[in-house]
Amino acid sequence: MTIPTLRNYIGGSFVDAPGRTFEKTNPVNGTIVAHVEEADREIVDAAVKAGRAALEGTWSQMSVNDRAALLRRIADRIDARFEDLLAAEVADTGKPESLAREVDITRAAANFRAFADMIAAQNLDSYLTELPNGRQALNYALRKPLGVVAVIVPWNLPLLLLTWKVAPAIACGNAVIVKPSEDTPSSATVLAEIMTEAGVPDGVFNLVHGLGPDSTGEFLTTHRGVDGITFTGESSTGSTIMRAAAPTVRPVSFELGGKNAALVFADANVEKTLDGLMRSIFTNTGQVCLCTERVYIQRPIFDRIAAGLVERVKKLKLGAPYDPTTTTGPLISLKHREKVLAYFKRAEEQGGKTLVGGGIPDMPPELSNGAWVEPTIWTGLDHDSQVMREEVFGPVAGLIPFDTEEEAIRLANDTDYGLAASIWTNDLERGHRVAGRMNVGIAWVNTWFLRDLRSPFGGMGLSGLGREGGAHSLHFYTEPTNICISLTEGESK
Ligand code: NAD
Repeated sequence: MTIPTLRNYIGGSFVDAPGRTFEKTNPVNGTIVAHVEEADREIVDAAVKAGRAALEGTWSQMSVNDRAALLRRIADRIDARFEDLLAAEVADTGKPESLAREVDITRAAANFRAFADMIAAQNLDSYLTELPNGRQALNYALRKPLGVVAVIVPWNLPLLLLTWKVAPAIACGNAVIVKPSEDTPSSATVLAEIMTEAGVPDGVFNLVHGLGPDSTGEFLTTHRGVDGITFTGESSTGSTIMRAAAPTVRPVSFELGGKNAALVFADANVEKTLDGLMRSIFTNTGQVCLCTERVYIQRPIFDRIAAGLVERVKKLKLGAPYDPTTTTGPLISLKHREKVLAYFKRAEEQGGKTLVGGGIPDMPPELSNGAWVEPTIWTGLDHDSQVMREEVFGPVAGLIPFDTEEEAIRLANDTDYGLAASIWTNDLERGHRVAGRMNVGIAWVNTWFLRDLRSPFGGMGLSGLGREGGAHSLHFYTEPTNICISLTEGESK
């Protein structure tokens, strides 16, 4: 099979970038998936200019209804190209095909449909001013597109996260320059083809491939023609991008890392909790920003939960993405595996006891070059240990006992991050009470990962800045101009 070369997509066409290329390998077996042309400063500049030209052309005159219809056409084309997107995503990430089918590609189409509905229903901020002297004025805020928006995303849910930003940005009339992760360039390339097929005007969607520092990511975030940056990725990268945006005070939206806690109370339904914990710890091999890495368990059921998790982990089946019995894929790359393995070592050095996992699994010869790692559970780690404070971003969790509700809340909130928490209890009042005291962007009670696309999504502290979802996304991608009209005759005071 010939290995494809993935190109940058600028102003409605794929362009040649004869400079540097990099190889994307399949984390399942180490084979080459694609050669990728890296966008240099010139290509990034061309993308920014194409975006600007689109904004200055007919795109800005397109009505909201027509933009909503365009978003629905994109969603329809995603459905039509579902299997191509699926193959691209699975080849890049190695995740089980069933997971990519159920979550990644399905959510990509849903993202466009959701924002088509939301943009059509958006209303204006309006207020009637009534002064003590009898004067009246009508205020209403018109929302204009932010402009050329840089969209930079990670590798864990590549198409889902990318479309979660592109859909509202286009819905609001912006032009986007998308930079997928160097580890997952393929589905974004299919999406560029879809943009042409759906009739998206040239320059509204641009795609540049490349790495971060001293490469495409940096060229994009430091480009003065970019009007705003929306980024999902590591907290330290967010901090670098914030500095890049500072000189021209451009708006940024950040969805960053997490070190998410689960709080398991003794009154919880043990079987349901175990199922929920397994999903929240091991989905996508633990490579979801919302995954649980800290599990606080009330002492009376600590041993039952620990034993139940171990039993279930032993039943996980690591394997190839298209094997229907596979539950768990590899990590994204051998480089990422080095990081995760370093935490395995550190956990033991810091007094942790590995209940299950903790190493590299034996895989069949055809998969032996993949980035496999064993799903792992620790006990005995101190709440303040490095492993319990830093994001591992792998299939791991540390279990820690607690006695009282107050103690559980204190431990869960004692972190530099603030993305998500899940509370497992059969006590309704406790569920509400504890959820309300979590310093996180999203707190679940007796579930995990469930979302309404209209609700706010994001994190506190090192986990991010701003919120996405519903009106929160529409606000980030627009700039309001308030218009104040006097309604009374005479001098305007
Ligand atoms: P990363 O920060 O290394 O890379 C993310 C993207 O930023 C990539 O496209 C990369 O090329 C680019 N990049 C890297 N350095 C850059 C720079 N200096 N300038 C501009 N761009 C740069 O993150 P990752 O390893 O790809 O993803 C994993 C991280 O993402 C984890 O921390 C995870 O928690 C986080 N994440 C957060 C959310 C959320 O919604 N909060 C969702 C998914 C992933």
